[in-house]
Amino acid sequence: MSKTVLITGAAGFLGSHLCDRFLREDYQVIGMDNFITGAKDNIQHLFDHPNFKFIEHDITNHINISQNIHYILHFASPASPIDYLKIPIQTLKVGSLGTHNLLGLAKAKNARILIASTSEVYGDPLVHPQSEDYLGNVNAIGPRGVYDEAKRFQEALTMAYHRFHGLETRIARIFNTYGPRMRLNDGRVIPAFMGQALRGEDLTVFGDGSQTRSFCFVEDLVQGIYKLLFSDYHLPINLGNPDEVSILDFAQEIRALTNSPNKIQFKPLPKDDPLQRQPDISLAKKILNWEPKIQRQKGMQITFEYFKSLPNTKLFEVDHKDFSKHNKRQ
Ligand code: UDP
Repeated sequence: MSKTVLITGAAGFLGSHLCDRFLREDYQVIGMDNFITGAKDNIQHLFDHPNFKFIEHDITNHINISQNIHYILHFASPASPIDYLKIPIQTLKVGSLGTHNLLGLAKAKNARILIASTSEVYGDPLVHPQSEDYLGNVNAIGPRGVYDEAKRFQEALTMAYHRFHGLETRIARIFNTYGPRMRLNDGRVIPAFMGQALRGEDLTVFGDGSQTRSFCFVEDLVQGIYKLLFSDYHLPINLGNPDEVSILDFAQEIRALTNSPNKIQFKPLPKDDPLQRQPDISLAKKILNWEPKIQRQKGMQITFEYFKSLPNTKLFEVDHKDFSKHNKRQ
């Protein structure tokens, strides 16, 4: 009998790609999501898969699973700045209470657990590029604090379970990742620019566009997660593509890629928007023998084809996520 992996945030961008990967590797996959930011469309193709089971559940509540679980991948969390501004309390709860429930489940099942952490644990970094030993520059009470601190708490709790209970834990610090199944209107820069290009609108660059990001294609990231899970390394490890670009240059790349005749429109820089971000992946190279392989130009082309294939109704929706039902329950 093949081993079973529980994937939280299974209907999300990364979670759904992880479901695909583990099914391809012949695992039994249990996907879990409450669809607060995830989308059924991302896993629609899996519902008939004999090795896939889906449980709709909010992991901030107790998780009941009777069957054996060998691995847990914890990828449930809002991950886009506009989402965690709209649902700040759920963002804090899923990183803290949700993680606590999953660590407890992992302990009960004697399962190995991998936690999705983030480059946001470095905040607006004063060290460049960011390596794992940098302790970060985070504003706990700023708008991004709900995400950053939830993820920092999540790392602390995970390390505590490792040290106190001897739980098998893995921590991935994930830098900006992109690819098919990102939500078109989630506010992040790649879907934002591509959506604008497809609608014939100007591209909105926040600030003067000198802030930098380093974008990793989803397939590379999934490979990094896969290798990390099966490694014996329990301290946090950066996963991302070090190929850094300023947002202004990136906007020009997207204009060229999409043949957009439209201009660039400058908008105010959101509060605490990190000015620079680039992963130092020396550790991942050494420990996991992993590095990204897909160049930005190719990854962006694949991603643009995906957005182009979406129905027009999706393209013109301003924000198809309605959080009101969830907000009542905070
Ligand atoms: N950004 C932008 N225009 C947009 C959306 C985002 O210039 O329409 C900028 C944003 O200010 C940030 C960068 O792009 O500096 C990446 O933003 P994103 O929301 O994708 O993720 P972050 O890395 O900030 O978490």
